[in-house]
Amino acid sequence: MPGILPIKKLLIANRGEIALRILRATKEMGIRSVAVHSTADGNAMHVRLADESVCIGPPSAAESYLNAAAILSAAEITGAEAIHPGYGFLAENADFAQMVIEHGFIFVGPTPEHIRMMGDKVTAKAAVAQAGIPTVPGSEGAITDDETAFATAERIGYPVLIKAAAGGGGRGMSVVHARSELAAALRSTRNEARAGFGDERVYLEKYLDHPRHIELQVMADRYGHVVHMGERDCSLQRRHQKIVEESPSPVITETERRAIGKTVVQALEKLGYLGAGTIEFLYQDGQFYFIEMNTRIQVEHPVTEMVTGIDLVREQISVAMGHPLSVTQDQIRIEGHAIECRINAEDPKTMIPQPGKIIAYHPPGGPGVRVDSAIYSGYTVPPYYDSLIAKLIVHDKDRDRCIARLERSLAEFVIDGIPSSIPLLRAILAEPDFRESRYDTGWLERFLAAPPGS
Ligand code: ADP
Repeated sequence: MPGILPIKKLLIANRGEIALRILRATKEMGIRSVAVHSTADGNAMHVRLADESVCIGPPSAAESYLNAAAILSAAEITGAEAIHPGYGFLAENADFAQMVIEHGFIFVGPTPEHIRMMGDKVTAKAAVAQAGIPTVPGSEGAITDDETAFATAERIGYPVLIKAAAGGGGRGMSVVHARSELAAALRSTRNEARAGFGDERVYLEKYLDHPRHIELQVMADRYGHVVHMGERDCSLQRRHQKIVEESPSPVITETERRAIGKTVVQALEKLGYLGAGTIEFLYQDGQFYFIEMNTRIQVEHPVTEMVTGIDLVREQISVAMGHPLSVTQDQIRIEGHAIECRINAEDPKTMIPQPGKIIAYHPPGGPGVRVDSAIYSGYTVPPYYDSLIAKLIVHDKDRDRCIARLERSLAEFVIDGIPSSIPLLRAILAEPDFRESRYDTGWLERFLAAPPGS
């Protein structure tokens, strides 16, 4: 086939469960793998299982997993042809993607132009709106003066949300309930954005008071084909960060799924997108409102894999090589139900990260159970990185059976030596609101503030 760039060796520019997830795909595809690691990760599972590994720096992420020069040198000396960035770290850094390409490697991901466009929430919103995707009502572009802020807030109505153009990870957002709070909130969000992201631009959005977070998984090849693989409902969040994700969403209909899927596919065809991507929406009162697009594989991608049977990482690598998509839209079927729980090394009450040594580790098993994790008995969770240590994903015929399977899997799960969020997940699963799917993005915060029996 014309234009195929074979990948025989791939460098994984990440750590933890996602590094292992990518490594598994490379093994099954007959591609040799190169792991990179900091001095704190010499014993990590992705390093142990990779064909080759290169130490790229000290524990601090800035000097290792974010060190583009060290990663490119590692690719050079090992003779890798391609680099997969995973999620987090350099995954959405357009300059890094550009450098990878300029050094003659394949970047497993979208073009630097699309990463740049979507990485800035202001340009992203404008671009997708132009391509026909519905967005949250708000300011046109960044707000630079108080006059425009007041006028916009009057137009869309309070409460409004001030968001940082460069924001991410649930940071750089503040809700404003009344006109009297707006000027001060603008100032403080700008300061926070400047300090946190080195970019003080902010914009205004209507604050939705009971939304669900529903996102669409898409995949595109170099030949202009784009498919969507249904949605993930990620409404269970703490501090705007996802804790439990499921597919399909219990609150949308097949007609709504088809309609939003079609809108998204047409928009991405127009934009000429390549690779895996997620279009995130808030959904309230039957309407979808775009909030952002992530130009990478997501933490919660396994729920989509479980209901579609498609290996998303394999597909990413395959389209990066120049192969056409392995499926057409008509061939994609959503079968049964899948739910993922994120398990963090943290105190289940205070939710403060608690790294340390794992004394015993026994993951659950049996039908429909998948555990994506890079930990093992005797492993020490280092304090330098994200506290996510495992993802438990289960699949079954329908949502009720899926929840039953999840409960028995969480009960089987043994992680001794450090505290984890397993008790919190079990408490959430026991709640009638969760079981009956009556929750929005604010539910978990309210539950944590006033747990039953408190
Ligand atoms: P980040 O990039 O930091 O993840 P997002 O724009 O994806 O930020 O938003 C993360 C979460 O913040 C959403 O899932 C939702 O819970 C909340 N959120 C964002 N925008 C709004 C809005 N306009 N109204 C209400 N909640 C919002």
